[in-house]
Amino acid sequence: MAHAPRTYTGTPRNLALLARVLRGGGIVAVPTETVYGLAADATSRAACLRIFAAKGRPSSDPLIVHIASLRDLGRVAVPNAAALRLAGKFWPGPLTLVLPKTGAVPGVVTAGLPSVAVRMPAHPLFRRLIRLAGVPLAAPSANPFGYVSPTTAEHVRRSLGRRVGHILDGGASRVGLESTIVDLRDPGRPVLLRPGIITREEISRVLGVPVRNAGRPRGGNRPRVAPGQMARHYSPRTPVSLHASLRPAQAAKGPRDAWLFVSKPVGRQPVNVFWLDERGDLRRAARRLFAVLRDLDEGGFRRIRAELPPGTGVAEALRDRLTRAAG
Ligand code: AMP
Ligand code: MG
Repeated sequence: MAHAPRTYTGTPRNLALLARVLRGGGIVAVPTETVYGLAADATSRAACLRIFAAKGRPSSDPLIVHIASLRDLGRVAVPNAAALRLAGKFWPGPLTLVLPKTGAVPGVVTAGLPSVAVRMPAHPLFRRLIRLAGVPLAAPSANPFGYVSPTTAEHVRRSLGRRVGHILDGGASRVGLESTIVDLRDPGRPVLLRPGIITREEISRVLGVPVRNAGRPRGGNRPRVAPGQMARHYSPRTPVSLHASLRPAQAAKGPRDAWLFVSKPVGRQPVNVFWLDERGDLRRAARRLFAVLRDLDEGGFRRIRAELPPGTGVAEALRDRLTRAAG
């Protein structure tokens, strides 16, 4: 992309213009409630190839397809009863379902897999843009492959720069973590491919069966490809190390390290102590995580030492992203 990116507010006129860009096979960075995405017409191979080129994303890494109405689900995927139950309960929202794909989805979107990952996002501007474009939109996170996901338009500008021409600014992402991904290809045996703020326990309650983890891919078998499952992903350049329990007193011994807690430690803290949420609310912590990692990455620290929150639910998603940040 030769020009610096233009940022657009969500006026009807701007949305119409961006929808034209998308219908013409272009790419647009879009706000979603999870993280900012880099969107293209999911039915166009050429358009989706532009996403991979802009991100430096390997073609083995499939994209999520975003729809604005339940009527469009059958256009891209073959739904089953479990999928419809989850969609009824959690859509629009941060839950992605993996289902058999239809012929409308080119192989480049699914990395050649016969399955497709689909989500109906909740962000009103993104939904309006999908409707105006009139096609489902494929969109991974709008960041260079492997780096921390963007949760503001400014993050997108700073890390993709001239590689994207158009950025729709819809404010800071409300969820702040990528969607939960559930594999429903075998509807009786749902598999959690990526934890998120819609938790394993919530999904399990709706389906009435446990939601398992993806097993280790066996030799000879096609792995259940999930970029979210790659070891190093969402990573700052500063090395990250993880700690089951951190004490703020330790920070004095590592003044060149950033010490990252989930909640604010009691008392006055040295300048190299940080926290995700004052009271340790896990949803608020999730919302801030990526912005904090970006800030710390630019803070000149030798290392980021992060506390892993214990427990189930949203803590599982936070541990997942911190663990990936640590590579
Ligand atoms: P990202 O767009 O970077 O958040 O990553 C896309 C996510 O979608 C990956 O983490 C994959 O787990 C998932 N995904 C996309 N397509 C498929 C598919 N066909 N089968 C399994 N997982 C998929
Ligand atoms: Mg990503």
